[in-house]
Amino acid sequence: MVTSIESVVGTERRVVTELPGPKSRELHERRRRVVSAGVTNGFTVYIERADGAILEDIDGNRLLDLGSGIAVTSIGHAVPELVEAVSAQVANFTHTCFMVTPYESYIEVCEELAALTPGDHEKTSALFNSGAEAVENAIKIARHATGRSAIIVFDHAYHGRTNLTMALTAKNMPYKDGFGPFAPEIYRVPMSYPFRDGLSGPEAAARAIQLMETQVGAKNIAAVLIEPIQGEGGFIVPADGFLPALSQWTREHGVVFIADEIQSGFGRTGSWFAVDHEGVVPDMVTTAKGLAGGMPLAGVTGRAELMNSVHEGGLGGTYGGNPVAAVAALASIRTMRERNLLARATHIGDIIETRLRALQQELGGLIGDVRGRGAMMAFELVVDGSKEPNAAAAKAIVNYCNNEGVIALVCGTYGNVIRLLPPLVITDEQLNDGLDVITRALRSVASN
Ligand SMILES: *Cc1c(COP(=O)(O)O)cnc(C)c1O
Repeated sequence: MVTSIESVVGTERRVVTELPGPKSRELHERRRRVVSAGVTNGFTVYIERADGAILEDIDGNRLLDLGSGIAVTSIGHAVPELVEAVSAQVANFTHTCFMVTPYESYIEVCEELAALTPGDHEKTSALFNSGAEAVENAIKIARHATGRSAIIVFDHAYHGRTNLTMALTAKNMPYKDGFGPFAPEIYRVPMSYPFRDGLSGPEAAARAIQLMETQVGAKNIAAVLIEPIQGEGGFIVPADGFLPALSQWTREHGVVFIADEIQSGFGRTGSWFAVDHEGVVPDMVTTAKGLAGGMPLAGVTGRAELMNSVHEGGLGGTYGGNPVAAVAALASIRTMRERNLLARATHIGDIIETRLRALQQELGGLIGDVRGRGAMMAFELVVDGSKEPNAAAAKAIVNYCNNEGVIALVCGTYGNVIRLLPPLVITDEQLNDGLDVITRALRSVASN
């Protein structure tokens, strides 16, 4: 029997100590002695429990979560359906290794992935632990299936921190600096970035295609790998027509089109996948983050003929598709359906966009761009109406929010974008409370 903690955590932001509080500061000291300095924290408040969109720290502060642990807890924290499914599974068995002796939940997750990802072609999936592992495997499969080696990625892309995915990721600091040598046969082309390049979707696609054809050669390219809305790179939404034109080109040249939907997928943008907004049907889709409500699970889902071209035993891993993570994914997907969270994502996006656009008008020149889809919204900060990135403003705004007990995240190649990724169960009241704090933060930065 699982008891709800709703009554314990409450639904309102409440700051009762300075932040971080004394207990968090003490733990942070302890941490310094044993945790690698290479792993950092955005905000050093130590969490004890959570519910919905509220995190409670060890000093009793209640923080409003506008980050969802980087787009992971989309269904909210401590959702009873997920808690019950996971608890029951832990009591039954925690691990057998699917490659040794299988279990049904793995199949059910693959059935859901086949049904939810775009396209009505035959699809199969393989499950892994992390987003990076899914991306690596998608590349392995695309190379195996095509017999080609070159991979195309984009400026501002983020695909993970393992060796192959570091090579796929664009930004040097902090992800790559000093960690090379990197994997070969990765080629980077410009992304469509309407705020900075002013190109239409088809124009930006033509620019990328021309480089692929002249510098790599279509027949050498195994895959084009792209985030339909870039995450870490700055919530960059490509101009309309960019993704369809690229997808069309890959089809004409036997290149595998891989959509990395690890951040943008699973309801975040108001549809199951961000490519759905433009009717693009990828050959392969990578998923993780919002897939399993906080349990580590990732998937590669693709055309059966590509996925099944791999020799027997060619894909796998000890923990991939772990039974506890698998039932968490099933509970999370069920919750999204039952609570109609895709529509919630759209509604959240409408509220955020309306308020941010008003602030953009009011604060003339601080907010260069407001963009995103659904509950994946961001604003890009610039210096005095120019396009010069204003990372200092982003930092100041996040600090202001943190001090008020609101968790907001920075992203972007230039560190000047603030992204909002609230749990989809956030109430209008909670969301508006968070946006009030962001408004005060922006006004304070604009007046300094
Ligand atoms: C987070 C992320 C990854 C890496 O996922 P991990 O689980 O951190 O390895 C890959 N691609 C995108 C688009 C992501 O946002």
